Amino acid sequence: MIDTHCHIYLPDFIDDLGEVLDRAHKNGITDILMPAIDFDSEIQMKGMNHPDIRFHKMMGVHPCEINNSRCNLEASLLAACAGKDVVGVGETGLDYYWSQEFVEEQKISLRRHCKVAKSLKKPIVLHNRDATDDLLDIIEEQQDGSLTGVWHCFNGSVDEGRRAIDMGLYLGIGGVATFKNAGVDKSVKELPLDKMLLETDAPYLTPDPHRGKRNEPGYVKLVAEKLSELFELDLEEIDRITTENAKKLFPLIA
Ligand SMILES: [Zn+2]
Repeated sequence: MIDTHCHIYLPDFIDDLGEVLDRAHKNGITDILMPAIDFDSEIQMKGMNHPDIRFHKMMGVHPCEINNSRCNLEASLLAACAGKDVVGVGETGLDYYWSQEFVEEQKISLRRHCKVAKSLKKPIVLHNRDATDDLLDIIEEQQDGSLTGVWHCFNGSVDEGRRAIDMGLYLGIGGVATFKNAGVDKSVKELPLDKMLLETDAPYLTPDPHRGKRNEPGYVKLVAEKLSELFELDLEEIDRITTENAKKLFPLIA
């Protein structure tokens, strides 16, 4: 099983990282994809290792961090993402919930991430909060047939999910799909499983029944179990299909 979106490098895990990773391995996790928050994330990612888990870096600037101006430089982004060990570009996206102040900067940053992703032929990782229409409009505008990526922590309607898939995006399914009143499970059920990836977004967005506590990569199994229930398929089948999807979208991890 692959956790395609996990901030395992954050200080939240500093005290018990080894145990967290052992639990992830016990729950079947073979690979962890680490989206950056800003350019400093790379330094934090360096310390990651476990005998049974592969770690993969992605470089980008989170929409809530782009007021930090040096992060807007296209050249630094291109340089940071060019390395062979960088499997994707992100996370980028739009967040109008936490950050109304820098909406225009967020859009500029998103477009730059798209440009870099296309020129390096690497998938983009998209964060969205209260900005679905703008996010999908920019992806549509940027899509020239060469842009691939994932709408991480998918939280849209069925129509929004279809629109994203039609534009070549995958949907990252995380803890929100397990929340009783979020409604995301109802959208997910109507959308194609062969466009879905498993993720945790740890340490955030912890799935039920651990909601409210720190999230960790091993909990991706709870998300897989939710998909197994929604699609009425064995857990092994969910694992097989979503792992295949992840390797298709992120060829560098295969
Ligand atoms: Zn994230």
